[in-house]
Amino acid sequence: MTIADFGSQAIICKVIKERFPKDVIVAEEDSEELRSPSRVHLLEQVTRYVGTLIPDASPEKVCSWIDYSSHALQERFWTLDPIDGTKGFLRGDQYAIALALIEDGMVKLGVMACPNLYLEKGDPRGKRGCLFFALRGRGSFQTDLQGGDKTRLSVSKTDIPSKALLTESVEADHADHEFHQRLARSLGIESPPLRMDSQAKYGIVARGEATLYLRVPSPAEVGYKENIWDHAAGSIIAEEAGGKVTDALGNPLDFSSGIKMERNHGILVTNGILHDAVLKAMRM
Ligand code: AMP
Ligand code: MG
Repeated sequence: MTIADFGSQAIICKVIKERFPKDVIVAEEDSEELRSPSRVHLLEQVTRYVGTLIPDASPEKVCSWIDYSSHALQERFWTLDPIDGTKGFLRGDQYAIALALIEDGMVKLGVMACPNLYLEKGDPRGKRGCLFFALRGRGSFQTDLQGGDKTRLSVSKTDIPSKALLTESVEADHADHEFHQRLARSLGIESPPLRMDSQAKYGIVARGEATLYLRVPSPAEVGYKENIWDHAAGSIIAEEAGGKVTDALGNPLDFSSGIKMERNHGILVTNGILHDAVLKAMRM
């Protein structure tokens, strides 16, 4: 894990705990590695980084903020991926800070910062830094990271499968790219897939830039179960923009049985209109 994963989790957990002292936060990291004597230097770096925002940060406090996280789910809890797409972050590509609120198994709020994602769809050379947020029943929005005007998002309206743009992971271990390619061919999709790290892919579907986000488990990782913090924030952002999110078999996502989505297999996100057609093509 990087300084950023630990630092991001320390800051966000501290703030949530102050505002909502009774809430459980289910976050990806814990402080075990940081507390090991061989990692003193890493802990110092994390503390210095957190100290730029929270001046009274100390190594002990930073570890205790990180450990506000618990993996025991309750009726109401937050999920946090402090840096989703760490591999993309290290490569200088896409990553996201992804926070969601879950009540009775349903995602109610999602907030996702994508510091390296271009703001205007289809303009990868343009200004970067997006904040996506969605509240159940109230829509999905995007702003810049400076808190500028918000834009309401809506998914692509295309009902022609061959015109769909598919987005998928960069990492070959995270999804079955060959299966995706066969599926794309069977749907007659013309454009090559848009490969992108992190839940930024949900944002790309929400703003109508891609039409499909596919994540069929890689054959190298048979039986892989997705983590709830990798999908909670992204899924509501896509749904509130008019998209549909299920697993790759068409089942609703399960955010309530544990940190792993035990009842699900892969992920399928579409503009809604094409969902059944894609599921049908997957079964063939
Ligand atoms: P992405 O950037 O979309 O490829 O997804 C990044 C996330 O993939 C990480 O946060 C990991 O939790 C998750 N991940 C790790 N191993 C696997 C795997 N074998 N299959 C699917 N996802 C994985
Ligand atoms: Mg992640």
